[in-house]
Amino acid sequence: MILPKNNRLSSEEVAQLSVIVAEFGCRIQPIVGDIRTIYAIVGDERHELMISRLEGLPFVDRVDTIQSPHKLMDRRSDLANGRLRIGTVTLGEELLIIAGQCTIDPKNPQYFMETAQAVQEAGAHALRGGVWKPRTNPYSFQGDAKSLETLMEASRLTGLPAVAEVMEAGHVQLALDAGVQVLQIGARNALNYSLLRQVGAAIAGRPTAVLLKRSIHMGPLDEFISAAEYIAAFGNPNVMLCPRGTLPGLDGYRNHPDESITPLLKEKTWAAVVVDPSHSVGKAAYVPACALAAVAYGADGLCLEAHVNPSQGIGDDPKQAVTPRVLAELIVRARALHATLRRPTVPA
Ligand code: PEP
Ligand code: MN
Repeated sequence: MILPKNNRLSSEEVAQLSVIVAEFGCRIQPIVGDIRTIYAIVGDERHELMISRLEGLPFVDRVDTIQSPHKLMDRRSDLANGRLRIGTVTLGEELLIIAGQCTIDPKNPQYFMETAQAVQEAGAHALRGGVWKPRTNPYSFQGDAKSLETLMEASRLTGLPAVAEVMEAGHVQLALDAGVQVLQIGARNALNYSLLRQVGAAIAGRPTAVLLKRSIHMGPLDEFISAAEYIAAFGNPNVMLCPRGTLPGLDGYRNHPDESITPLLKEKTWAAVVVDPSHSVGKAAYVPACALAAVAYGADGLCLEAHVNPSQGIGDDPKQAVTPRVLAELIVRARALHATLRRPTVPA
């Protein structure tokens, strides 16, 4: 990782770096951070001669060779000083609330418009709406690209940035062209390395962020952080890590709630942790407790499924979506808990 003296290098300077690292079989990948751009050396960056030649350049501050499988997302990385902003919220300062329907129903788009308005009034900062849906059953509703227009119209009317899941490169382009600000990579695709690469490259140098769900098939936490590293290594480090329940299922819950990994993630990485209690527990009645537990564990945000009329929803909404009234109450409590935990304790 090459840290320049100034915030950004000129293209001539990047070309000079490229010539040197190419001699050692490596290439340069700029990673556009919030504060400055850093230049990752892709390949084996441990050649002593290469490092000293790079450090000899007048515009290079230093070369960091963090020995970590996820050196960009690592807590010790220079990117740790950046701050990700979603709408009006700076992650790490204020609790981010993403809320909206699991699925936009193309036959009843008016529900989504009402839900969008309602989640904004309840205090949400970003609007989620499923356009393309990964479904376990091939005969279930798979989503509809037409709903992208509904999502963006609701986003414009409420002023809330839009969050949508993408499952393939074609979705990524359509979503970006429409103005989606947060791309969700779902639990089923969090181990799809070619999609992770495509997303990182498609949003390189853009303010777009990614909500990366934890796959239920992920083992050690490093596997989750490495999935985020893929996106960062291809050009965009704006990744939020999203625990959303894992295996084995807990009798009565949809998945095994995993908000408790939040402090572990924070020990290893600087990335914001945004927990999804809706998919963790899978039942609206259990969502508030799980959401508050996530905040108690130190989450920087919550991603919640909500619907103005859950029983008339589709996808997960009839089971998981909370009503706007429950959402509003939950947001007040979650914010209060978040603020209490950030207040310094009085020394004994
Ligand atoms: C969703 O957010 O509606 C979704 C499908 O999530 P996950 O990938 O976590 O199952
Ligand atoms: Mn869902």
